[in-house]
Amino acid sequence: HTDMKTPAILGQWLLTVILLTSTGKPLSAELPSALPVPGGVALVPLETGDAAPAAYFNGKPVMVLNNDGQYTAVIGLALGIKPGPQTLEIRTSAGKSFTQHFTVESKEYQSQYLTISNKRKVNPEKRDMERIGREQKRIHMALSTWTPMPPETTRLHLPVQGPVSSPFGLRRYFNDQPRKPHSGLDLAAPEGSPIQAAASGRIVDTGDYFFNGNTVFIDHGQGLVTMYCHMSRIDVDSGDTVTAGQVIGAVGKTGRVTGAHLHWSVSLNDARVDPTLFIEKAAED
Ligand code: ZN
Repeated sequence: HTDMKTPAILGQWLLTVILLTSTGKPLSAELPSALPVPGGVALVPLETGDAAPAAYFNGKPVMVLNNDGQYTAVIGLALGIKPGPQTLEIRTSAGKSFTQHFTVESKEYQSQYLTISNKRKVNPEKRDMERIGREQKRIHMALSTWTPMPPETTRLHLPVQGPVSSPFGLRRYFNDQPRKPHSGLDLAAPEGSPIQAAASGRIVDTGDYFFNGNTVFIDHGQGLVTMYCHMSRIDVDSGDTVTAGQVIGAVGKTGRVTGAHLHWSVSLNDARVDPTLFIEKAAED
C-alpha cells in the first residue's frame, strides 16, 4: 500500500507525516490483539483506498479504524460462531460494494463447575421468567448499540484492581447443569471497591437484573460496548459521558454470584469477546 492511488490517500499520508513530526507518535488507531477464534477478534485490512469505507459482518456494521493510513475492520466473533471461512462486506463512500474473506480458527475453552446456593438463580421460577425475558431484550439492546463515532482507543484498562477469578469463555455448569459459556472476565475484589470506566464513552443504560444484578453499560463508539455487573452501587445515569478511569460504581454481589466480584464484558458488533485482547500489556512498554 505504498503507491499513492488517490489524492485522499496522499492527504492521509501527509497528515500522518505532520502528526509524526509534531507529536513523535504515529497516527495510528490502537488496535486490539488479533485472535480470530470464537470469542476473539479478527483484524482485516481493507483492500480499498477509499477514505471512509464501511464494513458489515452478518449484515451488521463492524468497526473500521484507520491504522497508519490502512483502514482495518475490527470484527468481534461470537462464542457461538462456526469456525471456517467468513465473508466481510465492504462499501465505499461512493456506494461501491465488494467482499473480502477471513478465516475463524477453532478454540477449546475449559469447563467450570459452580455451586449456587440460591436455587432460584439456577432454575428460575415461572414468575421470574417474564422478568428475565424482558431484561434479556433490554440487555441485548444496550450491548448491540451502534454509534458512528469511532472509540478514542480500543486499548482498555482493567476496571478493577484485582486478580482474574474466572477467565472468559469457560463452558459453565451451575449445580451440574450446563448453562451459557462465560461471556466476560471476573475480577475479584472486596465489596465496595471502586469500579472504573475501561475507556471514555457514554452510559447507554443502567439497571438491576435477575442474573447480572446492578449493571452499567458504556458505549465507546462503533459497536464497542463494555458491561459491568453485580455492582453494590451505581454512580452514573443513562446519558452521562464518562472519561477513562472515572469511577462508575462499586463491586458487589447482586444477581447470580458466588461472592463479591466484577463481571466485566466487552461487546464488539454485538459479539461478546475476550476482554484481555483489549488490555495493554504493560511489560511491552
Ligand atoms: Zn462472570
